[in-house]
Amino acid sequence: MKLFIAKSAGFCFGVKRAMDIALEAAKKFPKNLYTLGPLIHNPQAVEYLGELGVKVRERIEQIPEGTVIFRSHGVSLKDLKRAREKGLRIIDATCPIVKRAHFFAKFLHRHGYALLIVGDGHHPEVEAIRSYLNKRVEVVEDVRTIERLGHWEKLGIIAQTTQSFNLFKEIVAASLEKSKEMRVFNTICHATTIRQKEAVEIAKKVECMIVIGGYNSGNTQRLAAICKEIQPHTYHIETARELNLRWLVRVEKIGLTAGASTPSWIISEVEEEVRHKKAKVNKNL
Ligand code: SF4
Repeated sequence: MKLFIAKSAGFCFGVKRAMDIALEAAKKFPKNLYTLGPLIHNPQAVEYLGELGVKVRERIEQIPEGTVIFRSHGVSLKDLKRAREKGLRIIDATCPIVKRAHFFAKFLHRHGYALLIVGDGHHPEVEAIRSYLNKRVEVVEDVRTIERLGHWEKLGIIAQTTQSFNLFKEIVAASLEKSKEMRVFNTICHATTIRQKEAVEIAKKVECMIVIGGYNSGNTQRLAAICKEIQPHTYHIETARELNLRWLVRVEKIGLTAGASTPSWIISEVEEEVRHKKAKVNKNL
């Protein structure tokens, strides 16, 4: 068996930074320490933080006192104001690359451009960006939506940091015909592009592709979808326990990658399980 493991699999810079910040905070402020929403989209990592006393609350109102950590996706203006009003200690773990997207969104807004965000309108990162702008913001997930929108005098485009670059290009191209003046800032995170490219390369040469990450992780879902387009035998799992023996029958080349919020210990467990199960399959053939 040949196992191809993506070098880019697992924690990205922003998620690692957020985890390090939370671990440090758990040492410094062990009492009344909260994250606003799960720190990262990985239930196992969130459970581990819980064991260290980091509690998850979905709303600022549910935090009576103490310290709140803002996760790597960033935080809405409303939540920031509420946390300040309540006198909570704020630890901001927003990824600097997400902050860069905020910067360009505000810049375009200030200069009179209508803003188009290529992304998922329900994702916390996009919701946070929108909250700082009071009007003229459209969020689009596909090219068809562009056709339904009107024309613009001045249009600015940015992307959710984990968007697919190809989709971003398609939407920019489709918008060209609908605006007199256009400014585009590529705010897609480089780590995401590299991860997706590497996953595609691996998916092309294997007979079975395993993508590891939280089911609630948008970037892992996207990674699995991209791989599935190339290799139909692509499986998205959260932990080693979900690895199915049948997937490994009569396959000799197996690929493995993971989303940006997947801890390295989970990737290692899956790798070990693939080797173990594959040896078992070979023995029974
Ligand atoms: S994927 Fe990129 S933008 Fe998002 S947290 Fe990781 S490093 Fe930051």
